[in-house]
Amino acid sequence: MSNLCIRTFGCQMNKRDSEIIHSMLAEKGYVLVDREEDADVILFNTCCVREHAERRVYSRMEQLATLKMRRPDVVLAIGGCMAQKEGRKILERLPHVDLVFGTGALYDLPALLERAVAGHGPVISVDGDVRPIRSQAEFGARETSVRAWVSIAEGCDNQCAYCVVPLVRGPERSKPAKLILDEVNRAVEQGHTEIFLLGQNVNSYGHDLVGAPDFPGLLQLVNDVSGVKRIRFTTSHPKDMSPRLVEALRDLPHVCEHLHLPLQSGSTRVLDLMNRRYTRDDYLRKIESLRSAVPGIGLTTDIIVGFPGETEEDFEQTRSALAEIRFDTAYIFKFSPRVDTRAETLPGHVPENEIVHRHRVLLEMQKEISREKVLESVGTRQEVLVEAQSAKEPEYLTGRTRNYKVVRVESDGVRVGDEAEVDITEARGWTLYGTLTAQAALRSDAVNG
Ligand code: SAH
Ligand code: SF4
Repeated sequence: MSNLCIRTFGCQMNKRDSEIIHSMLAEKGYVLVDREEDADVILFNTCCVREHAERRVYSRMEQLATLKMRRPDVVLAIGGCMAQKEGRKILERLPHVDLVFGTGALYDLPALLERAVAGHGPVISVDGDVRPIRSQAEFGARETSVRAWVSIAEGCDNQCAYCVVPLVRGPERSKPAKLILDEVNRAVEQGHTEIFLLGQNVNSYGHDLVGAPDFPGLLQLVNDVSGVKRIRFTTSHPKDMSPRLVEALRDLPHVCEHLHLPLQSGSTRVLDLMNRRYTRDDYLRKIESLRSAVPGIGLTTDIIVGFPGETEEDFEQTRSALAEIRFDTAYIFKFSPRVDTRAETLPGHVPENEIVHRHRVLLEMQKEISREKVLESVGTRQEVLVEAQSAKEPEYLTGRTRNYKVVRVESDGVRVGDEAEVDITEARGWTLYGTLTAQAALRSDAVNG
């Protein structure tokens, strides 16, 4: 038996890949540990969407050089998107690493690791094809007992000018619906009641398969699986968001009222430079139709500031779009040039101090808006799916409303996995606090006998 420590960087897709890694290596006798010092194998599952993510991996792996010196038998592995992109170059900066495996080599990991553990390192696997689409139902190790991430498609066929994802994850490949439904059924059997569907662009799901449902059709199928309480999904590309998706959000009882819809920029001119293939007005109209069909829907987004060629006026358009739309949350990123993307060579580089300034302006404005949006829920009654004990305040349990707001409730009368009716009593920062409604408390008394 050996100890394995996994550190995951980046998006939910990586989190699911880490669960798969955990499942595959558990089969080989590995046990997950939290602390790097306790591990026989330390594995970083990495992201390369922005330079900052890569810098963190390099610096944290550099720090592990002393551990490796002290305990040369510890195996250090780097996998995922940055490994795919950087390949052998990683070993120039991190010569103490024993294994580098790209996104395409995920399923080969047990064999690769065996070689590295046997001292045949450094082992490198970054040149293979994109990985095949296959069932992931057998990989039952999950990060939480309530939520199950389920990948429905891999890769991406869009060519957003700033984005490295298609280069490291390959073209879009949808997973046949039958495999998805098998995995959903398996997750439900294991007690997971929230299904979180993942893809780089879920709205184009099925385009590459003959006779497959489209994404709203898939939502209907998952909605009908017995035992599923909640369905969420990410990411939706605005250009592919159809009226049928709005109807699914409105009509399917288990599909939660939340949509992450990356805007990226409020300027049509910049959207065009980014190759996003929608205009500011298209986007605003989509938001309007969502809000009128699904009142109270939670809306979140991604924004990039400082894209090459972004003028003061373009930036102002993004600022006013955020002020007008009032997202619940907006993830605001500074543009980071990525090798081999179209944006890398675009003219109109925005000076770093200006990017920092624009970033700060949006962050501060959004902070206010997010706070106001959270306050709107105080005094309302919400259905909260209880996910876990709160890490920050262990006397509370934490969960989310259907529209994705975090709520803490006192643990009396509720358990992880319950869908509780909660009266929201206050907001501290961006977190809501609530109490069980009298009926919910009564019901739970009856259940607990
Ligand atoms: N497929 C998803 C996720 C892409 S990466 C999507 O389409 O949304 C997640 C977010 O990172 C993107 O939405 C974008 O806002 C940001 N991002 C991607 N590349 C970036 C870059 N080069 N610089 C800054 N932010 C970037
Ligand atoms: Fe990148 Fe655009 Fe594909 Fe998202 S849709 S992964 S941002 S290319």
